[in-house]
Amino acid sequence: MAASSADPMVLSFEDARNVVEHQAASIPAPALETVLLLEAAGRVMAEPVQAYRDLPPFPRSTRDGYAVRSADLSRVPTILEVVGEIKAGEKPDKVPSNIDKGQTASIMTGAPVPAGADAVAMVEYSSQHGPRVEITKSVLPGENIVPRGAEARQGSPLIDRGTSLNEAAIALAASAGRPRLQVYKRPRVAVLTTGDEIVDVDVAPGPTQIRNSNSYSLAVQIQNAGGEARLLPVAPDDPQALRRLIEQGLRLDLLLLTGGVSMGRYDLVEQVLSEMKAEFFFTGAKIQPGRPVVFGKLGASPKSPGKYFFGLPGNPVSTMVTFELFARPILEALAGMSPRKLLFTYAKLKSEIRVKSGLKRFLPAVLSGEFENSQVELVPWQGSGDIAATARADCYIVIPPDRDRISPGEFVAIMMR
Ligand code: AMP
Ligand code: MG
Repeated sequence: MAASSADPMVLSFEDARNVVEHQAASIPAPALETVLLLEAAGRVMAEPVQAYRDLPPFPRSTRDGYAVRSADLSRVPTILEVVGEIKAGEKPDKVPSNIDKGQTASIMTGAPVPAGADAVAMVEYSSQHGPRVEITKSVLPGENIVPRGAEARQGSPLIDRGTSLNEAAIALAASAGRPRLQVYKRPRVAVLTTGDEIVDVDVAPGPTQIRNSNSYSLAVQIQNAGGEARLLPVAPDDPQALRRLIEQGLRLDLLLLTGGVSMGRYDLVEQVLSEMKAEFFFTGAKIQPGRPVVFGKLGASPKSPGKYFFGLPGNPVSTMVTFELFARPILEALAGMSPRKLLFTYAKLKSEIRVKSGLKRFLPAVLSGEFENSQVELVPWQGSGDIAATARADCYIVIPPDRDRISPGEFVAIMMR
């Protein structure tokens, strides 16, 4: 599969993605560190978390009402004898040990349902007078009760190794009594922007210069994918200087270059990488934006696994899209995340799309409308340099390579951003 020099290896989107997923699967788990629960959001679990007891630990009432024997309510209205009141958190010795035929206990949401009772009648269908309550609606066995252990059995897995921790996973870890979690160390990603015309954000650009925006969009994407971005100085279009900065970048876990991978005379990235004996997995993908994207590895030897690099095309939207499509799975694997497929959803197209066929396209688009009226349409843009249009978009419409016209009302695949 790999080529020793940068011979053109332009793959279909699917083939290029398969190559990336295949490489990602070979990446070993990173080193570990322990962090406080509140600092663990967005981190990747390095240890499994198990339920230390049944969840819920007792049959839990999901309503305020009366713990009853459902058979007692086969005919309603019925009058039952109230033998106790059960608050959430009540000590077990304050709770009736059993509900006998003709009896009930008033019970609050979250409280344990006592033995004998098999359902909870909602307070809305009751009226209590002293020690007696009249209940006007019958209940099915099990109604308004979550049985002990129904959410998780003691010892069963709650959070797997490789899970990226969102608010629900953090809540689970909290409920499992874990003030600290073992997570994977974040991979450090070198970002190397190339181009004689590029100046940094705090420099006033000359008339033909442009400010570096790619390093900043990439830093955000790297952070979102679980990495730490390190911005290297901008590389001029000069082979020696570029090589020195690439060597610097290779000290980190992953190297992302932007710019300099097209066919122009000063697009030196592939040339310099070839001179450094890089192994190339592909040097282009049949997509738009981002066709010249390059993926490979440097410095692999029997002693060292080497470092992955991506040469992302310099057009700002190409950089963003090719990161999501190809660099993200490698970065997630370096962060210890379990592999996942790209996720797409469908929405109804609002206005016609016409494109040239032959490339799989990922074009900036906006969603509108709610629920079943959800619609999507392209944002008007000036091509893959147009950051302003892309900033207005909330997703990409994915156009298969064999389509040149899509009509309003058709369902199109979209990739959220
Ligand atoms: P290249 O891939 O080097 O041919 O660059 C393609 C286009 O993207 C050119 O218009 C560049 O000026 C622009 N570009 C390259 N790098 C950056 C960057 N870091 N920030 C913003 N625009 C860039
Ligand atoms: Mg350039």
